[in-house]
Amino acid sequence: MHEVDMTKCLLLSMQDWRQRHGPVSPSVEVVHLQVGDFTCVEPAQLVSTWDVAIRGSWLEGARLSIESIPLVGRCVRCSATYRPSADSAYRSPCCDHPMEEVVTGRELRIRSVDYTLASSVPAEKPTPVPS
Ligand SMILES: [Zn+2]
Repeated sequence: MHEVDMTKCLLLSMQDWRQRHGPVSPSVEVVHLQVGDFTCVEPAQLVSTWDVAIRGSWLEGARLSIESIPLVGRCVRCSATYRPSADSAYRSPCCDHPMEEVVTGRELRIRSVDYTLASSVPAEKPTPVPS
C-alpha cells in the first residue's frame, strides 16, 4: 500500500522530468533510486508495483534500480553517529539515548535516469492543400 503511493510520487516526478525535455520524449531505460532503510519501503514490492504502473505508459520497459541507504542516527547527547537497530529499540549504543536524529535512511529520491532521446523524429507528411 505504501509502495503504491511511492510509485505514484515517482511517476509524477518522472512526468515533470519528461516535460523538461521539451517536445522530444525520452526513452527511459533505467531509473536509479535511492531508498533509505528507514522508509519502510520493500524494494521488491516497489519494483513489482512500478512494473504494473508503467504498463502501457510512456515509461513501459523502464527498470527500477534501487540503492539502499542504511539508517544512521546521531546521538543528541554526545553527537556520535551510530547504526540504530530494532533490537536495541534504536537507542544509541554510546549513551543509551533514544534515537532523535536521523542522519540518513529516510531518502526516497531519483538519483539519475538512463535514457536515450529519439535521434530522428518522423517527418510529417505535407498536408494536401484543398483546391
Ligand atoms: Zn552518545
